[in-house]
Amino acid sequence: MPSYPDEPFRIKVVEPIRRTTRAEREQIIKAARYNIFKVPSSDVTVDLLTDSGTSAMSDNQWAGMMHGDEAYACARSYYSLEAAVREIFGFGHFVPTHQGRAAENILCTMLINDGQHVPNNMHFDTTMANVSARGGIPVNLVIDEGMDPTSLHPFKGNMDIGKLRTFIRKVGAANVPFGLTTVTNNAGGGQPVSMGNIRATAEIYHEYGIPFFIDACRYAENSYFIKMREEGYAGKTPLEIAQEMFGYADGCTMSAKKDALVNIGGFLCLNDDGLFQRAQQELILREGFPTYGGLAGRDLEAIALGLWEGLEEAYLAYRLGQTAYLTGRLVEAGVPCVVPAGGHAVYIDVKSFLPHIPQPQFPGWALSVEAYIEGGIRCVELGSVAFATKDDNGLWTYPEMEMVRLAIPRRVYTQTHLDYVVETLTALRDRKDAIGGYRMTYEPPFLRHFTAEFEPLRPDDA
Ligand SMILES: *Cc1c(COP(=O)(O)O)cnc(C)c1O
Repeated sequence: MPSYPDEPFRIKVVEPIRRTTRAEREQIIKAARYNIFKVPSSDVTVDLLTDSGTSAMSDNQWAGMMHGDEAYACARSYYSLEAAVREIFGFGHFVPTHQGRAAENILCTMLINDGQHVPNNMHFDTTMANVSARGGIPVNLVIDEGMDPTSLHPFKGNMDIGKLRTFIRKVGAANVPFGLTTVTNNAGGGQPVSMGNIRATAEIYHEYGIPFFIDACRYAENSYFIKMREEGYAGKTPLEIAQEMFGYADGCTMSAKKDALVNIGGFLCLNDDGLFQRAQQELILREGFPTYGGLAGRDLEAIALGLWEGLEEAYLAYRLGQTAYLTGRLVEAGVPCVVPAGGHAVYIDVKSFLPHIPQPQFPGWALSVEAYIEGGIRCVELGSVAFATKDDNGLWTYPEMEMVRLAIPRRVYTQTHLDYVVETLTALRDRKDAIGGYRMTYEPPFLRHFTAEFEPLRPDDA
């Protein structure tokens, strides 16, 4: 059995979990139109929907909240955050935003013209939607190993450098307003990107005069993977690794709800002076004055402290150890998962687990519903509902990987909770052939998994 990392913290505050019966959960999920996003959290036993904004803050962060300066302009807390961002990320300018997608929105609004392409190793759903919403075309160019759930490549989030060069030549550099790389690759299993790959990606973008931005949400976890796996980095601190990584880029978008260990917040960093001025104008229009950007002073303070805590080695070893533990135990139990384990989440390979459900019947979605009914576990489909695309003729293309993500909130659940998840999924494994598909009864235009509605297919529909 994989070993469980001892937690580098004590628990000072607890939040009760309400127990539900299976019969109750069957009613609850039906009332939620079979969409786990619509299930009240008080009806969830172990909530692995996301690691975003679900972290437990430290005593130091809560103390920082009391110190937050709520002045409208140039609050003290802004300077705390600025100091942390400057030292860790190193870019010339930054603006706080209320979360990561607000930073994406500002970047996409400033740079994308209709019909232009934005390459990435893999776009996360909000990034993809923000690029599309401005008329851009998001393109995923991750290495082939990144699409193979069983490949043991140490950096499955890497950009395919050959594909990137070919792509830029094909569409022309003038049609690529900026390029991205996402660390770690959330949509592709939370897999890390190597320093060598980030350097090579930056060189190509810059060779063609294309600004390079990092989608930095899980930069600390990515830094620790580099330390563990990439030659030449074992003796460096996660901070030094992060500094080198950002040194290759022209800016980044950040959701502080991930590696900054807070419940809300984000920022956009950039080096270009003219772009920064435009970003400030966009910020004032959409988010708030440039020193608070849609956040309270106390939030800025908590982010500043959380950025430092998120880089501590004992914390990162525990964090990555937790996902490795859950992945190892599930694989032992015969639940196929993406290996090696990613940073923030365990990804079940649904095509292997439920091969009898075709993608148009949403096998990942079906698994997420069953995990709730079986054990009150909430997890998210990253498959046909989240990522299928329709062309102009109404023909659907389904994603290569069909996954269900069990995201682990930071510093929230214990080994016992994760063992309970293993027990629940083991029970599902035993009756998996009887699990059926779903039909969508309401389809929203963007990010459809958040608000779509479903009904189970009866056996004679299939
Ligand atoms: C969460 C996330 C975002 C968006 O951030 P929000 O704070 O949720 O708006 C963007 N990219 C990646 C890779 C993410 O994981």
